[in-house]
Amino acid sequence: MRTEVREKLKDKQRIVIKIGSSSLTHTYTGDLNLMKIEKLVRVISDLKGEGKSVVLVSSGAIAVGRQALGHHTRPVTISEKQAFAAVGQARLMMVYQKLFAEYNQVAAQVLLTKDTMINESSRYNAQNTFNELLKLGAIPIVNENDTVSTSEIPYVDNFGDNDRLSAIVAALIGADLLILLSDIDGLYSDDPRQNPKARFISQVDEITPELMEMGKATSGSDVGTGGMAAKLAAARIATDSGSDMVIANGDDVEVVSQIMTGDSKGTLFLAHPNFDFDLMHYINNEY
Ligand code: GLU
Repeated sequence: MRTEVREKLKDKQRIVIKIGSSSLTHTYTGDLNLMKIEKLVRVISDLKGEGKSVVLVSSGAIAVGRQALGHHTRPVTISEKQAFAAVGQARLMMVYQKLFAEYNQVAAQVLLTKDTMINESSRYNAQNTFNELLKLGAIPIVNENDTVSTSEIPYVDNFGDNDRLSAIVAALIGADLLILLSDIDGLYSDDPRQNPKARFISQVDEITPELMEMGKATSGSDVGTGGMAAKLAAARIATDSGSDMVIANGDDVEVVSQIMTGDSKGTLFLAHPNFDFDLMHYINNEY
């Protein structure tokens, strides 16, 4: 189904796409799902081919690192997570670099920490780097710098999850669309895994406190972190900053092309700009 609002997504020029660890890896083995990554790279390269600017926020550093080091369970200590991320981030980038190069695209790595974003001059530097990379036609691939910022207290001294990070990036670079690829089709009135009567919500015009309540802090996967609550927090940041956001099922990454051609896939959160928008408040969770 197409609506006028959905048709408008065709015109978006600066797009941030976020993919999570559970969408990038095979459920049973934890190995990278190369076919899916390859397809995502192709879809993004095609968006570039249409003249759009694309930023990819990719999780997976910790999951890929743990796999590379032969750990088949979730890391227990913080230093273990940090070490896994150091190994995994490099591997992940190696795969992205190789696949993007096959489609004649240049991938760039941008690792952010909450400190980088809080500090005015480093935030400004990060913003300039993004703008320059996009001007040069490169595809920035973003993750949190887990090697130094993973900690016990999410949200206080780190971003906590890449859903929020991707919305912060969208706000920082003035993106007009953020697409969160998730393991669920979009927003439901309740958790559809537990309540078969849960109703699918295809469009959200405004994020109300009741809606925020609806988000459940659950993530069905063993590798990712962000549940629906994190996605709604991301929606709040993105839409307040003036960007539309779509949550869609990343099971088939082709969904990105379908969204970009105006198909009613996933849940669309319409931009609802807050004219007093100050990114710092959102980074610090004061909203
Ligand atoms: N930054 C983490 C990683 O790359 C993932 C965070 C998240 O899943 O939201 O492993």
